[in-house]
This record gives sequence, C-alpha cells and structure tokens, in this order.
Amino acid sequence: MENRELTCIGCPMGCQLTVTMDNGEVTEVKGNTCPKGDIYARKEVVNPTRIVTSTVKVTGGDKERVSVKTANDIPKSKIFEVMKDIDAATVAAPISIGDVLVKDVAGTGVDVIATRNILAV
Ligand code: SF4
Repeated sequence: MENRELTCIGCPMGCQLTVTMDNGEVTEVKGNTCPKGDIYARKEVVNPTRIVTSTVKVTGGDKERVSVKTANDIPKSKIFEVMKDIDAATVAAPISIGDVLVKDVAGTGVDVIATRNILAV
C-alpha cells in the first residue's frame, strides 16, 4: 500500500487529496469534495496530463503574438517538448479562433489552436 498526497486543480477550492495505491492500482481517493477530484486523482497518479496554454509569434498581424492552447490534454512528461515546438513556431495573419497553428505538437497527436483572432495589416 502506498499513499500519494495531491492538490486537486479542478477548481479554486484546491482540495487536498489522498490517493491510496496497491501495486500501481488506485484503491481509494479521499479528500475530494466532488466527483471531479476523484477523476483527477486517478488520472494524475497513473497518466498525468495537462492542457498547455501559451502564445505563438505572428507575422503581418495587428498583434505580435497570438494566444494558443493545446486542443486536448497532452502527457505531462511532454510539456517541455511541446513548449519548445510552440516557441519555435511563427504563423502569418490573419488568424481565427480555433485555427490549427501547430499540428501534432511534439508528436503527441494533439494540435495547438488559436484562442483569439488576429487581423492582417
Ligand atoms: S475535488 Fe471538486 S471541489 Fe475539490 S478542488 Fe477538485 S474540483 Fe474543486
């Protein structure tokens, strides 16, 4: 038996979670105020993932950078590589919310999409 202590990131309450594991399997989650905490804890100890938000350089637009996010969760272990690919990207305006700006970022199978509009100038 092994216990892991986590802070739930599902909402600002930040419940303190205790996850009990046996041979790599989650047997119990305690401390969650709602079911989201249980789901988060089970995923976090077995396969932690995150949505990554950042910005990408823009050419020919009314702003120099566009805010972006990964369209889905990516493995937490890949965050550094994902940020490297996002930092290396440059996109040309115009850009619309939801446009795919980096396809299959860092080989995760997840695209990076725009979260704001950029006009061409
Ligand atoms: S367990 Fe529920 S109430 Fe507590 S931090 Fe997570 S999402 Fe918020």
